[in-house]
Amino acid sequence: MKQDEKNLLLNWYYEMGVDESITNATNNLRESRIEKYIAPQNKIERVVKLSSHNNPSALVESARVLADGAKDLNHLRQVVEQFEGISIKKTATNTVFADGNPSAPVMIVGEAPGANEDQEGIPFCGQSGQLMDKMFSFVGLNRQKNLYITNSLFWRPPGNRKPTPEENAICLPFVEKHIALIQPKLLLLVGATAAQTLLNSEEAITLMRSKKYSYINKYLQQEIEVMVMYHPSYLLRQPSQKKFAWNDILKIKKKLAL
Ligand code: URA
Repeated sequence: MKQDEKNLLLNWYYEMGVDESITNATNNLRESRIEKYIAPQNKIERVVKLSSHNNPSALVESARVLADGAKDLNHLRQVVEQFEGISIKKTATNTVFADGNPSAPVMIVGEAPGANEDQEGIPFCGQSGQLMDKMFSFVGLNRQKNLYITNSLFWRPPGNRKPTPEENAICLPFVEKHIALIQPKLLLLVGATAAQTLLNSEEAITLMRSKKYSYINKYLQQEIEVMVMYHPSYLLRQPSQKKFAWNDILKIKKKLAL
């Protein structure tokens, strides 16, 4: 193993809770500083009001029309923030659109905002997000520079319940346009909800994680490479699975030649 990989591994062990070593080797343990990027919020002129609130297919269609019309990232943010066609928006404090660098080579799509994200309006700013930031910081990936982060839902489902297929279907046009506007080199789908929704699959995440996918949607000219990873909240509950996440992180490092 090369020295820089050894250092990465030692740092990783430390951050994952291994606090004793049987060697005398020392390593530099770094804390990454996370600065938040939030795009300015300009008003849009027209808000499409939905008439058929109980018909998911009409709501999906309305979201599709709005997504089709979004000219750029700011415009997409505005139409999402003003979208009235999803009931979880009523119980949410904030629309959680995205965080990070829109020019990043890596775009992460998670499941849905939790309580912290709902309060702050920033994806992955709670405990699982802190773990995720640490994991990626080991290979030089961070929100200021080379990560862009969003979710497959823009509002917190009440009580942190799992998103319903209808909720994901309604948000999907926005998420598809979001991916096309960022056009990352690598799309990272974390957790089963994002992976199954965007890859239109019902497979278990354990199987999806080890497969190769590429991603395309109607807004994209060419396919994007995809990796499926375990969700950081699953890793918090099942620390023994962190070794798989570490393998994935090393794969990303290699892919991006970091
Ligand atoms: N879990 C997610 O999937 N997304 C967040 O933004 C926070 C927790």
